[in-house]
Amino acid sequence: QRDFNQKIDYVFKVVLIGDSAVGKSQLLARFTRNEFNIDSKATIGVEFQTKTLVIDHKTVKAQIWDTAGQERYRAVTSAYYRGAVGAMLVYDTTKRQSFDHVARWLEELRGHADKNIVVMLVGNKSDLGSLRAVPIEDAKEFAQRETLFFMETSALEATNVESAFVTVLTEIYRIIS
Ligand code: GDP
Ligand code: MG
Repeated sequence: QRDFNQKIDYVFKVVLIGDSAVGKSQLLARFTRNEFNIDSKATIGVEFQTKTLVIDHKTVKAQIWDTAGQERYRAVTSAYYRGAVGAMLVYDTTKRQSFDHVARWLEELRGHADKNIVVMLVGNKSDLGSLRAVPIEDAKEFAQRETLFFMETSALEATNVESAFVTVLTEIYRIIS
């Protein structure tokens, strides 16, 4: 997507966080390029991708940052969080451990990011229904308690991916406008 000759009203930085292999890079590829790559390594080294969309007649450029393999606890630096107005906190619905680590990621985020940051808890790989290890109610309850948005997504089947990002971007817009 090209921004050539396009007037940008807002740039919103959104960060992707969560354990390794939960599907962060694929969610990004799906949202920004409508792609899903079996070989995820292809996106390593890319700091962020952008997508321009219109919200309330304004042109908003979403600048979405990917961790590029720095998901070890506390390896993500404060530069990553700097200036972020939104965050997608991703876990894998088929990996209980990735959900158990969500509280830790949230703590990291709250320690580094702006207080008003808009956070979406994302349970990815909803296409793998038979392998579900995290009940949707557990995630909903956590999100409610921590005042986060929540959605289950599938980067593979393109379910709720657009919706999750657009919800966050629209909420950011609502807050700052
Ligand atoms: P990251 O480490 O969080 O960036 O995770 P990746 O995006 O690299 O994805 C890790 C693995 O999960 C890859 O093998 C992907 O193909 C796979 N994956 C990502 N999203 C989905 C999804 O929605 N459904 C399924 N079934 N697999 C997915
Ligand atoms: Mg990745």
